[in-house]
Amino acid sequence: MIVIDAGHGGVDKGASGNGLFESDYTLLISKYMKDRFDELGIPAKLTRDSDETLTPNERVNRILSAYGNDPGVLVISNHLNAGGGEGAEVIYALRNNDTLAKSILEGLGSAGQPVRKVYQRRLPSDQTKDYYFIHRNTGVTEPLIIEYGFIDNQNDAKRIKNNYKKYAEEVVKTIANAKGFTYTPPRVQNEYVVERGDTLWNISKKLDTTVEEIKKLNNLNSNLLYIGQVLKVPNYNTVTDTNITYVVKKGDTLYSIASKNNISVNRLKEVNNLKTDDLSIGQSLIIPETESIVLPKEDEIINEGSVYVVEKGDTLYSIAKKFNTTVDKLKETNSIINDILTIGMNLLIPSSGSTLQDIIIHTVEPGDSLWSISRKYNTTVNDIKQLNNLDTDLLVVGQELQVKRNTK
Ligand SMILES: [Zn+2]
Repeated sequence: MIVIDAGHGGVDKGASGNGLFESDYTLLISKYMKDRFDELGIPAKLTRDSDETLTPNERVNRILSAYGNDPGVLVISNHLNAGGGEGAEVIYALRNNDTLAKSILEGLGSAGQPVRKVYQRRLPSDQTKDYYFIHRNTGVTEPLIIEYGFIDNQNDAKRIKNNYKKYAEEVVKTIANAKGFTYTPPRVQNEYVVERGDTLWNISKKLDTTVEEIKKLNNLNSNLLYIGQVLKVPNYNTVTDTNITYVVKKGDTLYSIASKNNISVNRLKEVNNLKTDDLSIGQSLIIPETESIVLPKEDEIINEGSVYVVEKGDTLYSIAKKFNTTVDKLKETNSIINDILTIGMNLLIPSSGSTLQDIIIHTVEPGDSLWSISRKYNTTVNDIKQLNNLDTDLLVVGQELQVKRNTK
């Protein structure tokens, strides 16, 4: 049983960038999944199927009332990231293991999206609890937050816009296989039967095409339709791979373009059928989607109060050095008694000076404004906005904000 949670919605547009809003794409992805789970006969419900504002409480209530508070309920919370980075992440709850999260991330990788990592995140003020309410407040269900990519990253935004169905399909496939359902690829639909109330416009929206396209395919000279009319429609379930085109600028070399896009010069030449290394200004080059993984660059720039996931080869000393802190502080912050680290373990990185405990979660109450909250915790409006990736001053009652509390 699956609850598909389209993150954000209504006045809460979530992250934005490159002309896209997170809440729109989480809805598109979620609705696509719902249709596909229906086709496959896998029980699934949506937390929202329109551009609706939901408080965290309302969202949790819908999740728990969909199929009850049961470990057999899988919650797929769809999100897009922002704040500098590229690629997909999956965050799983403290009460679950990482098996499904890993499979989903691998699936997204095979669908052409760069992937970063799977991880858990703990509440700084109480490390026995999950950081995200979708993990923390959803009983014994199995919730996964899928961050498909960074909406404020141009490459990710482009890929998500073009490939969101492909990515959603990959998640559906992974879940179907993991939970023992028979998976069949999406039906390719070539025909549409006109229903009462249909217009060319709403059919085109429904099928992700245009009015012109439908008219052309069916040689229609007018917009008139009749109920039961069979229309030819484009294969709306086929998803296309899109490559990014790059126009050569003055000073560019094959090497500089390749390294900027995380691919090899050979691959770049191969994709573009280049026999020599010569480029001309204005020339269009196809930049293939990176098959590659992870950009460690952003991972290393971790803000204070962040979680670090222990990797192979790490020691307390190397981590302390990396984050400009001491082994003692690291051990104290994380209540580590011996010096043993396990790969995948989450470590809270103490900030220099103030302690992590200074970041708290404030739940927005009626009457709150960014200004009043900033006064309460002796911080600034900008700081709160930055910490929470807010690009508006609008708050929703029940919204959870990270606030850095400064002591005078
Ligand atoms: Zn989000």
